Amino acid sequence: MIIDCAIIGGGPAGLSAALVLGRAKRNVVVFDDNQPRNAVTQESHGFLTRDGVTPDEFRRMAHQEISAYPSVGIQHARITEVSNHEGVFELVVDVSTIIQARTIILATGLRETLPAIEGIHEYYGKSLFGCPYCDGWELKDKPLIIIAEEGQSAFHMARNVQASPFGALLGCEMNAMDGSVVDGIMADRFGRTSVKGVYAAGEVIVPSQLIVAAAQGSMAAAGVNMDLTQSEFL
Ligand SMILES: Cc1cc2nc3c(=O)[nH]c(=O)nc-3n(C[C@H](O)[C@H](O)[C@H](O)COP(=O)(O)OP(=O)(O)OC[C@H]3O[C@@H](n4cnc5c(N)ncnc54)[C@H](O)[C@@H]3O)c2cc1C
Repeated sequence: MIIDCAIIGGGPAGLSAALVLGRAKRNVVVFDDNQPRNAVTQESHGFLTRDGVTPDEFRRMAHQEISAYPSVGIQHARITEVSNHEGVFELVVDVSTIIQARTIILATGLRETLPAIEGIHEYYGKSLFGCPYCDGWELKDKPLIIIAEEGQSAFHMARNVQASPFGALLGCEMNAMDGSVVDGIMADRFGRTSVKGVYAAGEVIVPSQLIVAAAQGSMAAAGVNMDLTQSEFL
């Protein structure tokens, strides 16, 4: 069976896309190995109606809402390879199982890289933060130390790398993310990349925030549904 869409990554971008595609009765599987960028944080802020929620609770609620849509599956698994066979995508799940999909949404996010300072990981997400919009309020009016390596945009946010290489491997056009040295996947407002059938959502495009990633997931899902519907009628 060839599914309508394989979503790689089950953060806010991927799960939001799954919700919208489920409501469009599309056969969708979300593959996620649960290593989100904000895993270390104790509370997430700035997502209207969810200010202060923990990352685990955010995911639990998202999974519960999506479970109302029977055409969507969520697999706790890592995609290890993706290949494009003239419009049918083959995904290798956990090194062995192969899944085929008409479209894919890359929602694999970013991975943090921290400065090479001994013990820094123990403090990250507790008293050391990378984004003033996420955690600045909780630390307001307190003394502040800024850590930055040469050339970094210290007044904006920490630096990052792509969590998975699929965008570049599939031949998607990339560009330099705003204020960052890492390349992001270029996409139009419906998440369409330069490769037909490959869509991108969330921080694979540009570092942002939960609500922005979720919105991009929603738009990519609309792009997938629109393009599949058109191909079914032409
Ligand atoms: C410490 C910290 C605190 C933050 N606090 C806030 C906050 O308070 N408010 C806010 O709005 N934002 C916050 N952010 C930013 C927020 O985490 C991101 O904007 C958001 O997670 C991006 O969503 P995403 O769906 O693009 O990626 P992610 O949430 O990172 O999800 C990507 C998912 O893809 C999975 N994945 C990757 N590769 C594969 C693969 N090959 N196969 C299967 N699965 C894969 C990962 O395991 C992960 O679960 C914070 C970030 C950090 C680092």
